Amino acid sequence: MAPPPIPDTAIYWLRNDLRFHDNETLTRALEAHDRVLLVYIVNPRELRELPQLGFRKMGVHRAAFLLAALKDFRRQAKALGTDVAIIVPSPSDRGNTEGFIAGKIKELVASLSARAVYTQREIMTEELEDERAVEEALGSEDVPLIRVWGKSLYHPEELPFPAAEIPEPFREFRRAVEKQAIREEFEPPKALPPIDGFAYPATPTLTDLGYENNAAPAYPGGERAGLDRLRYYLEESHLVQRYRSTRNRSLGPDYSTKFSPYLALGCLSPRRIHTAIKAYQSTHKKGAGNNVLFEMRWRDYFLCLGVKYGSRLFRPGGFKERKHEWVKAPDLFQRWVEGRTGLPFVDAHMRELQQTGFMSNRGRVNCSSFLTRDYKIDWRWGAAWFENRLLDYEVCANWFNWHTQALEIYYTSAPWQGLKYDKRGEYVKTWLPELQNLPAPLLHAPWKMAEEGMLDGSDFDLKRDYYHPGIENSKWDWAWTRLKTGDSSSPKRKRKKTTPR
Ligand code: FAD
Repeated sequence: MAPPPIPDTAIYWLRNDLRFHDNETLTRALEAHDRVLLVYIVNPRELRELPQLGFRKMGVHRAAFLLAALKDFRRQAKALGTDVAIIVPSPSDRGNTEGFIAGKIKELVASLSARAVYTQREIMTEELEDERAVEEALGSEDVPLIRVWGKSLYHPEELPFPAAEIPEPFREFRRAVEKQAIREEFEPPKALPPIDGFAYPATPTLTDLGYENNAAPAYPGGERAGLDRLRYYLEESHLVQRYRSTRNRSLGPDYSTKFSPYLALGCLSPRRIHTAIKAYQSTHKKGAGNNVLFEMRWRDYFLCLGVKYGSRLFRPGGFKERKHEWVKAPDLFQRWVEGRTGLPFVDAHMRELQQTGFMSNRGRVNCSSFLTRDYKIDWRWGAAWFENRLLDYEVCANWFNWHTQALEIYYTSAPWQGLKYDKRGEYVKTWLPELQNLPAPLLHAPWKMAEEGMLDGSDFDLKRDYYHPGIENSKWDWAWTRLKTGDSSSPKRKRKKTTPR
């Protein structure tokens, strides 16, 4: 009797695409092959400590969020009839940033006689290096690496320009794309053929990845949590209708969508968000959620800038090659990291980031501006710390936003923004309990209160209980006059150039 035919097998190398809904890569692999092995390989590069900075690229919160997403993906894969191979570099493999992934994929291809490897296409330097290494390793086996696009709202083929020739600034991009059609979603698979006899390793723990502490990320990880959040923000709470007026706040989970952590790992497809918003508009309120889609175009814009500028982004002067002398001051950097700068609106956000892995957009703008414009510290240090911390870390979104704050737009004054966006001091008091008894909005400049004798006779001692900024900025003096009157109205237009944002 002839032996049973060897099934035509493909490997799906998962990266930032941990979802079954709207997954073109998986759809194409399943259409072309009898069975598909799902593989996630933890990248040793993410576990490496950055030489000058002494912390890993991926911090513990982000790692915990990733593991939660993998657990969820694996549970769903099992319900569909298969499983996910999650491969972890051993401590001795962690230095092998060049060849670990390629070597593992090559082994899997050989052991399953796989005919092709599929992956979601990435954009930036290190991710492309990984792809090149895999391609090289597969070259000798004559197996193709098939890269499929899946990260953005607009498919690059639908853009009215090649991604590498994207118009700038954002306004031009937005005008060019906002009338473009957005592709239909791909259906999730109903079942997945098993890979019989394959020995799937156990899902790793944080300890397996070399993290000593546990972490409780601000949001639950995984595709199902992402879809739940989408449902909650639209159909259940109708928060989407208030997004425009709340999006600049910082306190609690509901002032903005919190889609970003799920988008970053691909647990939520941008097209699914678009579909859900359009459905909401037709059943509830015309136009609701258009501002969310507006912000999501920023995400696409930065992805396209990534294609355009590639590794030029990471230069000290960025892709614009600005001439800039950055200060290398590890002590000040550490004060910023730990939320000890003496500027409450910065410190509260930095402590939230440190403890939860999340920070509002308002916080990110203020903290990045402070580090680069007040401390004048290399923007790439700050971007690296955000990379370590943020649950929603995405290479283009993070590094291009940092680039914008450090090298492109104007200064953001933290005491002024504290007055504007946290007038009652509720956010600051949540993360800086030591300021609990200071009056708002004055608490946004405690050193000014001390200078003017406002703390005399109180229990609060600036040096003992909090910090003095140790630096000066005339824009803070202007903010102080406003903090004293409580007037948070924006300065008149003609004064805009000389007054802080
Ligand atoms: P919402 O306000 O609800 O916005 C909806 C979606 O629009 C977001 O989920 C996000 O996908 C997109 N979006 C909104 N603003 C931006 C923006 N400025 N740039 C790109 N996309 C945007 N966003 C990330 O996703 N990953 C990052 O690593 C990241 N790093 C940042 C670093 C700095 C210094 C700054 C200033 C911003 C950064 N952002 C980053 C952008 C923005 O702060 C976050 O997308 C947003 O705070 C996420 O919360 P949300 O999902 O509730 O956003």
